[in-house]
Amino acid sequence: MRVLVQKFGGTALGDSERRRTAAGKVREAVEAGYSPVVVVSAMGRKGQAYATDTLLDLIGDEGCPVSLREQDLLLSCGEVISAVVMAVELKKQGQEARALTGAQAGILTSSEHGSSRVKKIATTRLQSLLESRIIPVVAGYQGISPEGEITTLGRGGSDTTASVLAYALETEKIEIYSDVSGFMTADPDLYSGAVKIKELTHKEACELTNLGARIIHPRAAEVARKARIPIRVKYNGEDNSGGSLIDSEVNIEQDKAITGVATRKNVIFVEVFLEKAESYSKDLQIFKLMAEKMISLDMINIRTDKLTFLLDKPRIKTARKVLSDNDYKFSFHDDFCKVSVVGGGMTGQPGVMARVVEGLNSAGIKIYQTVDSHTTISCLVKAEKETAAVAALHEAFNLNEEVE
Ligand code: ASP
Ligand code: MG
Repeated sequence: MRVLVQKFGGTALGDSERRRTAAGKVREAVEAGYSPVVVVSAMGRKGQAYATDTLLDLIGDEGCPVSLREQDLLLSCGEVISAVVMAVELKKQGQEARALTGAQAGILTSSEHGSSRVKKIATTRLQSLLESRIIPVVAGYQGISPEGEITTLGRGGSDTTASVLAYALETEKIEIYSDVSGFMTADPDLYSGAVKIKELTHKEACELTNLGARIIHPRAAEVARKARIPIRVKYNGEDNSGGSLIDSEVNIEQDKAITGVATRKNVIFVEVFLEKAESYSKDLQIFKLMAEKMISLDMINIRTDKLTFLLDKPRIKTARKVLSDNDYKFSFHDDFCKVSVVGGGMTGQPGVMARVVEGLNSAGIKIYQTVDSHTTISCLVKAEKETAAVAALHEAFNLNEEVE
């Protein structure tokens, strides 16, 4: 049996015509000899009746705190509704289909609510449906904890559902359908000159998504990478261009140093001032203290007189408390963003940093800090310069020349 996972994003299911198109893609897969497992996100975007953000608004009022348990229960409904509607659409198109919640599909998660981790997939039910030629339509983004509670996998988590199911069922490939034509060289909302990346490696996809590219969830890219399962990101509509292929095997263009640009704005830049040399060792405890509070830090720079790092904006309160409770002198800045270039081809290529610096500098953008790896270079710039920085880097590396 040739199994594939087809995942449809919220906007790809936003209205009845799009759902018809989506079901058509499933039918095409069946006709091509595949046994598809369909994974769906909640339909539509904020404002549309069953979108995740709309459901969140139902309980979002201050004054009545909602537990994450209840929130998970509510939000999981968006994907359940979507699964039922898609199963019905498939039946209308002559396909046998069965809607399943994450729990019914055997997705077993850790206990924490809001951003659970998938621990195990009990595939028996999915396998018997596949053997009976019934298409499972699985509600993405959710699972069940050992306590029998409904959990969710964090925003954007339907992609992760797709990857973990592909991993557990050892599928041939994953197809992710959305409202863009593929993985782009930059966020098209920030830079209109962005073009589709035809092929990229799993590693590049992981780096780009971790550094802010929103096309798929970073954890989904990571799972697919570990399982070495190719992902095709496609437009849900008329588009025969094939979208983007994420694969471990693709040939990295040797002369192309950079594959794409990504940015993250939702960050706080923290400076911690180390005033006394004698307390240096004690001051370095900060990393342990932050870790104890599960705060993850990024772009860390350690000097003898100062420590700097980035943290995610939602962790600001906890981080501030850790620092003040331990008598650190510090300042927080919320007006920065991290802009990064990613490319498997930059390894060992001289001059990549020079082009980054030159590109940003000639656009009048100051760099406050950098961090790099074999395949990434990130710069901290002022948040107001985000769009200009994306354009400058895109142009510095001629990324709009689509590679054939
Ligand atoms: N519906 C969820 C969200 O909006 C999960 C997903 O779409 O992947 O985050
Ligand atoms: Mg998504």
